Amino acid sequence: MQIAFIGLGNMGGPMANNLARAGLRLSLYDTDRQKSKVVLSVAKAAGNAAVTVAGSLSEAASGSDIVMTSLPSPKVIEEVAHGERGILSSLSAGAVWIDLSTNNLESQRRILAAAREREISILDAPVTGGIEGAAAGTLLIMVGGEKDIFSRCKPVLEKIGDRVLHLGAHGAGYVAKISQVVLCYLNSVALSEALMLGVKGGVPAETMLSIIQDSTGASYVADRYGPAILDGSYDPGFALGLAHKDMALTLELANSLRTALPMCTQVEDIYRRAVEKYGFSQNHLMAVKLLEEQNGQFLRGSARND
Ligand code: NAD
Repeated sequence: MQIAFIGLGNMGGPMANNLARAGLRLSLYDTDRQKSKVVLSVAKAAGNAAVTVAGSLSEAASGSDIVMTSLPSPKVIEEVAHGERGILSSLSAGAVWIDLSTNNLESQRRILAAAREREISILDAPVTGGIEGAAAGTLLIMVGGEKDIFSRCKPVLEKIGDRVLHLGAHGAGYVAKISQVVLCYLNSVALSEALMLGVKGGVPAETMLSIIQDSTGASYVADRYGPAILDGSYDPGFALGLAHKDMALTLELANSLRTALPMCTQVEDIYRRAVEKYGFSQNHLMAVKLLEEQNGQFLRGSARND
């Protein structure tokens, strides 16, 4: 089986590493060629000689039985999908495209229409577990699409995740992913406000965080992101712009389902303003910096108010 892996960033890179270590035949493509080379060296170290770096998107996709993508946004996914040298034109009938990115339903609908004409099957298979889960091969993968295609692809997905769930028809994976990921941002903002209140009232930030971790406020976000707020690194594992993309997808989905989500509306606004102020590629917890600046108080314990 020949697999093309497109998009080898924070998530795609470690996922492709695990496929390479599992001995699969892979063709790699990323607009940043250096990213492909990193995976290639992991494959070589693992003794897998069936991993190659493609010179273009269409070279990677053509002849592949499965294409897997881990890309930043609906816009990029549509760019690689369509066009003469896009994924859909490069694949043969019977091939499957598994999108591991967090994407929206509207973009998927356009891709599905074009894919049907070419007899290409599509699965939405967004993931959760962060860069640690991607590296460890322990992602939770939420899949939407036809059951028989899912069953055919499940053994490949099990090389990168330890829970691979078929949730229903096309789009079910994206819906589950968006509904899950939104809590990451709501929790991050909530955590920063709780820390801010404690610190402004005179409780050291580290003490406040450990109290939260031992209370009803305990969460993955407090354990994983709390220290990254307090050391001022704001967590380099995920881009601020991608965090805002997730919040924008949340509001888009809520609108299409005529569902009111007042907290999500406020949190989307915070992430949008943070991207405007600090830039798309900054670390995602820079959203907290807006609150820090608003209050004239940094949360990082060792260097407050600098
Ligand atoms: P990233 O920005 O680190 O990686 C994206 C990669 O795509 C980059 O290497 C980039 O060079 C490449 N790329 C961009 N345009 C391209 C194109 N036209 N052709 C080929 N390659 C192209 O992003 P990431 O953090 O790895 O996230 C990827 C997807 O996974 C996103 O949809 C994100 O929302 C989702 N996600 C990320 C995390 C996380 O913790 N980082 C967790 C779950 C889901």
